[in-house]
Amino acid sequence: MATSFTSSNLFRLFMPMLMMIGVMVSVNHIIDATKANSGFVTNLPYILFGTAVALSHTFKQSRMAMVALSMLVAYLVIQLRLQSPLSSGTTLLELSLLSLLLPVSCSLSYLFSDTGVISKGMAIFGAILVSFIGWTALILSHFATGGFLGFDNDLLMAVPQISRLPLVLVLYTLAIIGATGIFLLNFNRPIDAAVYASIFMAGGTFIFFHIPYISSTLFSLAGVLIIIYVISASHQMAFNDRLTNIPGRRALEMDMKHLGRKFTIAMLDVDHFKSFNDTYGHDTGDDVLKLVASRMLSVGGNAKVYRYGGEEFTVLFKGKTAKDSKPFLEELRKEIQNYEMVIRDELKRPNDHKQGAKNRGSNSKQSTVSVTVSIGAADSKNTRKPEDVLKKADKALYSAKEKGRNQVQCAR
Ligand code: GH3
Ligand code: MG
Ligand code: MG
Repeated sequence: MATSFTSSNLFRLFMPMLMMIGVMVSVNHIIDATKANSGFVTNLPYILFGTAVALSHTFKQSRMAMVALSMLVAYLVIQLRLQSPLSSGTTLLELSLLSLLLPVSCSLSYLFSDTGVISKGMAIFGAILVSFIGWTALILSHFATGGFLGFDNDLLMAVPQISRLPLVLVLYTLAIIGATGIFLLNFNRPIDAAVYASIFMAGGTFIFFHIPYISSTLFSLAGVLIIIYVISASHQMAFNDRLTNIPGRRALEMDMKHLGRKFTIAMLDVDHFKSFNDTYGHDTGDDVLKLVASRMLSVGGNAKVYRYGGEEFTVLFKGKTAKDSKPFLEELRKEIQNYEMVIRDELKRPNDHKQGAKNRGSNSKQSTVSVTVSIGAADSKNTRKPEDVLKKADKALYSAKEKGRNQVQCAR
């Protein structure tokens, strides 16, 4: 589901690498197959990037469309301008400029927010792309008039054993692939995966530009990956909770259909959250829910977490009894209790000392608060139906509240 292996950060990091190895291993077959179907294969990237833009529009993922459009323009430049030998005319200079600008263009998508494709942001992005092309044309015309004669050629030195691309640009490309890879490992949003995969495939094309048909092969693979990430982003939008960005109720309902024989369901509810909202305001309450969700993601025992609704969350342990799961839930409860959250607003002193939130700050603006949670857990020992186990967990949660809150209770 939302946290399946194929959407893990490591899978997304290694997928383009594996594809690249596959291409390199079977490069002769690819060259033969491309020669035999050159009309189709050389046009395939246009079809794939076009499809990615259309899907991005449907799913309101304009940033994905920006990445796809950057790749489409880069491929167009390769097909229209870079089909002559690198040693002739300005071909190498044009390739160098393209390898410099494409990563910039893909990364610029981060400056925008996601909307439909027909939007002001997309128009600005289009204008930036046009300005890149204009800037490149200016440099080329300057070159044609001998403007770079005094230019230090060492900077554009290539090491032919590695690549025909100037070494400095090979290093630049590798550094950007590394940086976007680290970004992907840390955030693992579909847009991070799309930017990384595009820069990886385009970078591979620029570095191995001397291999025939490398651009149509690697750009097609990038097109396929972008389409996969657009679909995965829309899937995430449908199944993840908007506020906390963890899986929501729909994801829980789907996952409850595949629990197996032994499982534990725990319901978690923030204590006295109504008075927390009354004291600090609804926006701060929202921030706290996000922080509780982020703490929950680090729960041990291979558990999956969901926002059930409101200030209630669900934790699912597959293959574990309530007894097995309790230590992980206790740890989570303590972790949330001890987590001091910095909140933005100037705070009023809470007037209800009974509430689950404690204002730890003095009079400073950087006040910290913490909340406590109550947890009820039940397993599938006597009741196999997940819905019934969830009801039992809810009852256990009620008894945790009754017994004074900030504790874990297991159903008997
Ligand atoms: P208890 O310890 O018994 O759980 O007390 P409580 O105040 O947490 O319980 P109650 O169910 O009465 O109140 C839940 C409150 O959670 C009500 C609502 O204001 C707040 N809440 C629910 N969803 C959200 C949300 O998305 N954002 C914010 N800020 N508050 C929410
Ligand atoms: Mg509640
Ligand atoms: Mg509550």
